[in-house]
Amino acid sequence: MTTDTPRADVDDPQLAAALDEFRAAIGAEHVATDLETRHEFSDTYSPRSWTEYLPPAVLQPATTEEVQEIVRIASRHGVELWANGQGRNNGYGGSAPAHAGTVVVNLRRMNRILEVNDEFSYVVVEPGVSFNDMYDYTQANGHTLWVDTPDIGWGSLVGNALEHGFGYTAHGDRANSVCGMEIVLPDGSLLRTGMGAMTDNPSWHLSKRGFGPMLDSLFMQSNFGIVTKMGLWCMPQPEYYITGWVTLEDDEHLPALLDAVRPLMIDRTIMNYPSVFTASGALAVVGKRTDFFPGDGPIPFEVSKAIVAQIPNLGMWNM
Ligand SMILES: Cc1cc2nc3c(=O)[nH]c(=O)nc-3n(C[C@H](O)[C@H](O)[C@H](O)COP(=O)(O)OP(=O)(O)OC[C@H]3O[C@@H](n4cnc5c(N)ncnc54)[C@H](O)[C@@H]3O)c2cc1C
Repeated sequence: MTTDTPRADVDDPQLAAALDEFRAAIGAEHVATDLETRHEFSDTYSPRSWTEYLPPAVLQPATTEEVQEIVRIASRHGVELWANGQGRNNGYGGSAPAHAGTVVVNLRRMNRILEVNDEFSYVVVEPGVSFNDMYDYTQANGHTLWVDTPDIGWGSLVGNALEHGFGYTAHGDRANSVCGMEIVLPDGSLLRTGMGAMTDNPSWHLSKRGFGPMLDSLFMQSNFGIVTKMGLWCMPQPEYYITGWVTLEDDEHLPALLDAVRPLMIDRTIMNYPSVFTASGALAVVGKRTDFFPGDGPIPFEVSKAIVAQIPNLGMWNM
């Protein structure tokens, strides 16, 4: 989140002054500056020598009001903020900011499931709620809806939706399932998208369109605000479902598979989001490259084929 004020650097006295105010606003115990936490909130899979991606501090607010206060303080002192939900996109950069001096605002403590609505098939969550939390909650409370998940359960619903994440059910295009967000803007004010712009409108999470332009996408894959609440459409638990696999023995069969699947997706015979992946993608899940091929350069096609032939139900391409 940027302001017109020039940004503070790591050793900047402005940053020190802002940190004092952050401590007063959200409690000193929720403002971490120790090296261990700063490493945890860069990328735990990055070399420790990449210190340029270490945030100088990690803030963990618990309420929307605390987020608003953080943003106002940061604005006054020219401190850049980088917000995330769980901040566990491990291996892809984690929650590391791209600029030195940027303070991470991690929202794991904002982890309330605000509503699960079976009748209208939606949920409303704070940004720290993970897919695992949501699954446990719906199971424990006898809910009948399915919340679409990505491959990993530890990420947040909000972070995944804002990053245009994908799962496999009919609501797998998560950004498209978002219905109504609450956002803290750079001046600390609150914006509610869609019907949420009207106070207490009961259709906030039912109708994506409010009056006028839809603003939700402005806050996805951007840094224009901090999302503090989100509604997501889900699907009712189906009576039956079938998982189908297609495996291809050769690369040249791939166009035929895509040509077969495309019309079925367009006419909505297939309503969910199939995943098409290579053998090497699948092998990376079960072992290291050196387990399969110790040589340099790309794994030769014939070597891959021989490995794949030994693994049941795996093809050179898989859907
Ligand atoms: C092994 C592995 C498998 C994966 N499989 C999948 C998969 O199948 N499908 C898929 O879609 N992804 C997948 N991912 C990618 C990613 O980890 C997931 O998308 C995960 O949901 C990220 O959750 P998070 O809470 O850690 O995201 P975060 O890192 O917390 O958030 C992601 C980004 O969204 C923005 N953001 C988050 N919260 C806010 C907020 N409140 N306000 C403003 N901006 C915010 C920030 O830009 C942030 O950097 C995978 C990752 C790994 C490591």
